[in-house]
Amino acid sequence: MKYASEFRDPAAARALLAAIATRAEALGATRAKPIHIMEICGGHTHSIFRYGLDRLIHDGIEFIHGPGCPVCVLPMARVDECVEIAEQPGVIFTTFGDAMRVPGHRKSLMQAKAEGADIRMVYSPLDALELARRNPGREVVFFGLGFETTTPSTALSIQQAAREGLGNFSLFCNHITVPEPIRALLDDPDMVLDGFIGPGHVSMVIGIHPYDFIAQDYGKPIVVAGFEPTDLLQSVLMVLTQIAEGRAAVENQYARVVPDHGNPVSLAAIADVYERRPSFEWRGLGEIESSGLRIRETYRAHDAEAKFGIGYGAASRNVPEIAGCACGSVMTGKMKPTACPQFGTGCTPEMPLGALMVSSEGACAAYWQYGGARAAAE
Ligand code: SF4
Repeated sequence: MKYASEFRDPAAARALLAAIATRAEALGATRAKPIHIMEICGGHTHSIFRYGLDRLIHDGIEFIHGPGCPVCVLPMARVDECVEIAEQPGVIFTTFGDAMRVPGHRKSLMQAKAEGADIRMVYSPLDALELARRNPGREVVFFGLGFETTTPSTALSIQQAAREGLGNFSLFCNHITVPEPIRALLDDPDMVLDGFIGPGHVSMVIGIHPYDFIAQDYGKPIVVAGFEPTDLLQSVLMVLTQIAEGRAAVENQYARVVPDHGNPVSLAAIADVYERRPSFEWRGLGEIESSGLRIRETYRAHDAEAKFGIGYGAASRNVPEIAGCACGSVMTGKMKPTACPQFGTGCTPEMPLGALMVSSEGACAAYWQYGGARAAAE
């Protein structure tokens, strides 16, 4: 298979759906007693809804939408801290566009920009570096956000800033890691999870072995998957096959892109620039040990937390979530987006109340974009 169209071939998809149905029935899975498979990555959630896989797949398979959307899991206190930095005199605050509308306690970055803060949307941390070069009298801050997929690019930017002596460039680091929240979910006695679809892009960087504990310690199958419909269906079938055979292993359906041992250049850059925080707060999941990164002492000159005295340990932490927002329950699979009383009424992509409706990778946004009217009718 060489081209995207081959991964969207209807005949191949139908054959996989039939094989999944046969497996699911053999395992006794029904709508009332489904097999719960969590797709960890928000990109997979988006693909599932984009291609209607939730409706096409056998009734006995229930997708649980995991916490793999970095914008969605960013706690409100960190949004407040972004605004606080952005409102400092002389600061140019740069960010990817999807973080602009995430609600903070006081305001979003979009609202702060409307009120006069110099906040600019960029496509890459390299754009922020260029702004720092062109504005030597200003402090340029990049909002570093995301899982292991985006961490290498910010690490390389910090290394480059250090090489050039760009003292006016810093990063507000909110990078987080995937394996630790999975462990937290597996330790939650209220969670019922039978298997996982592992993230494709993150695994390009870290490889598949950081997930070994899922199979070895918890006895659950995980299959790292691509993003096309047949990728996802094949991965579901691989999970069901493991369950049917009484096995639990880490398997790589996305081997055309994901090397089992990850990308050594990216991993070296991450290790050079970042170290683990003792813990990090996740919206909806609370504090999770060793799940966040911070900038090492060597690069402290480019750490916005140190430069502005704002960040971890500051008094603004543990800001309560917005009343009525059920993002935490949705992110832990305890509630479907459509069960949230705000869905489609108090919370829409145009006027989001919770982070899951802001990002295109958020489960609520995916439900709304591809099935909002259907869901509202249901
Ligand atoms: S509909 Fe809005 S408020 Fe409800 S869980 Fe989703 S994002 Fe949160």
